[in-house]
Amino acid sequence: MSLNFGRTQLSIPGPSVIPDRVLNAMHRPSPNIYEGELIDMTASLYPDLKTVAQTSHNAAIYIANGHGAWEAALANSCSRGDKILVLVTGRFGQGWADTAKGMGIEVETLDFGMQDDADPQKLCERLKADRAHEIKGVFTVQTDTASSVQNNIPALRKAIDEARHPALFYVDCIASLGCDRHEMDAWGVDIMVTGCQKGLMTPAGMSFVFYNDKAAAVQSKADLVTNYWDWHPRANPERFYQQFGGTAPTHHLFGLREALDMLVKEEGIKQAWARHETCARAVWAAVESWNCLRLNISDPAKRSHAVTTVRSDGDECGRLRHWCEHQGGLTLGIGLGFAEKGEPGWDSVLRIAHMGHLNPVMLMGALGTMDTGLKALGIPHGSGALDAASAVLAQHHA
Ligand SMILES: *Cc1c(COP(=O)(O)O)cnc(C)c1O
Repeated sequence: MSLNFGRTQLSIPGPSVIPDRVLNAMHRPSPNIYEGELIDMTASLYPDLKTVAQTSHNAAIYIANGHGAWEAALANSCSRGDKILVLVTGRFGQGWADTAKGMGIEVETLDFGMQDDADPQKLCERLKADRAHEIKGVFTVQTDTASSVQNNIPALRKAIDEARHPALFYVDCIASLGCDRHEMDAWGVDIMVTGCQKGLMTPAGMSFVFYNDKAAAVQSKADLVTNYWDWHPRANPERFYQQFGGTAPTHHLFGLREALDMLVKEEGIKQAWARHETCARAVWAAVESWNCLRLNISDPAKRSHAVTTVRSDGDECGRLRHWCEHQGGLTLGIGLGFAEKGEPGWDSVLRIAHMGHLNPVMLMGALGTMDTGLKALGIPHGSGALDAASAVLAQHHA
């Protein structure tokens, strides 16, 4: 007999929970794509997207997931045979590197493992050694969704500047945008990519490339760019359809409008960052109290505020994930990048998403369900996890 009768919650690190308001905004007949409401509404998205990204530069929208944004960023700024440097801190930097390799770009990686952030010192040394300036771009993720590490973007920028290296700085904010503080312009990010289905709370299917004027200037030399992926007409359209290289993703755009109303107009991006930080700290407090589990990233300053990777010595994580999904109505994330399914270690990792549409009832519901699962499974786990989490939430002041 299962207790699982009620509203379920998806707490995997993307897609995230879609607010009912966003779903309802999408529930409408197809709009005219040549004139009328859709055209004005779409134009209104860009200023709010730029507020979320903290940039005054260019934004291009793609009907694609995050992988599409990776490819778009590369296509507009690189040529076949160019060399790039990718900082790997989990799974997703490597994914971007693989995309680049597939496009004929020469990729060098600096791998920092599954439990650490990218070391600015090592980046600086590598760039100083590149006297001929062969490296055209430095690529990193802000939050690696597999390890849940958060890279220090301003420190990495400083390392590039310290090496006096002209490489463009690319940052993947697919997991972090709208959750972790990000200030594209102030932090000196040249190209930033994100998707709509995580912090932006919209069903998967749209992604975004933000690029500054330095990156725009590089495009004329990039021989990988093709008509469809070209960011210029998307960011500077003379006709509506050019923003999407064809038919607009009509309903996604209405959904995104509602999500941006909630995030930018109603809550405010700084308040959203503060909320995510408090929610993340509540999760960490609970996990630290469960003595059968531990946090993958030991230094709190290096942890994502959008997702937390949790580990156990044995198969506790896998059993707990299974119980929560089938008995508790809570779907937690699988481990990524540690062990493959069926290998030893597969059941020793889980991930808790705390990105996007999240308040205390959802967060305490998730943590309370996990606590219940540990009890039901007879896994010794200590006591006080929920007290520890609620004490953090109680101290929130934005
Ligand atoms: C989710 C994610 C991706 C991949 O996005 P898709 O939409 O699945 O293609 C890339 N990078 C990071 C950091 C992510 O969290």
